[in-house]
Amino acid sequence: MFKSRPSHFFSFFNHKITISLGDRIKIKIVPLGEVPKDILEKVREELKVPFHMVGEITQIEKLPKSAYNQFRNQYHSSMILDFLEKHYEGRVLSITKEDTYTEGLNFVFGQAKIKGRVAVVSVCRLDPKFFHKPEDKELFERRVVKEAIHEVGHILGLTHCNNKGCVMTFSNTIGDVDKKTQNLCDMCNMQVSLLTS
Ligand code: ZN
Ligand code: ZN
Repeated sequence: MFKSRPSHFFSFFNHKITISLGDRIKIKIVPLGEVPKDILEKVREELKVPFHMVGEITQIEKLPKSAYNQFRNQYHSSMILDFLEKHYEGRVLSITKEDTYTEGLNFVFGQAKIKGRVAVVSVCRLDPKFFHKPEDKELFERRVVKEAIHEVGHILGLTHCNNKGCVMTFSNTIGDVDKKTQNLCDMCNMQVSLLTS
């Protein structure tokens, strides 16, 4: 029945379009304290690549006072995650200029709950100026993007990866951050498709 074809095709395409838009993963990008707009925009842009994610940059949020440790002049990253879970719905990637730490570690570049919905990235030690190096905006942003993708990967269910260069490898030092790429390896990529399908 030739006549029925056009409507069949129409509904097929219509269906496809609905799926591709509806499947986009949404995430709120929350600046905790003042964070340069360029960095937030760059993160929003780069999250589209590995995860087809739609990021929405929110208003500045105050850092939770309860997470501050005055003896270390650092914020406790797990407490930041608790705060975000309490105050925000949906997936959240928070970014802060403050230094962060967690039990047993001097500092963390970021933290997320695996298969959770909240994450934090501290850009403090990703800035070349932290190591008394000259200002380098491009390097700074590249590092932030890597750590943001890494933490969002955890939210989506990825664990640490041993494949050299994969963004999901664990970074203990700034050298580790610089060594890895901002890309997922084939294994992690496949896992993301399975976890998000
Ligand atoms: Zn990690
Ligand atoms: Zn990997």
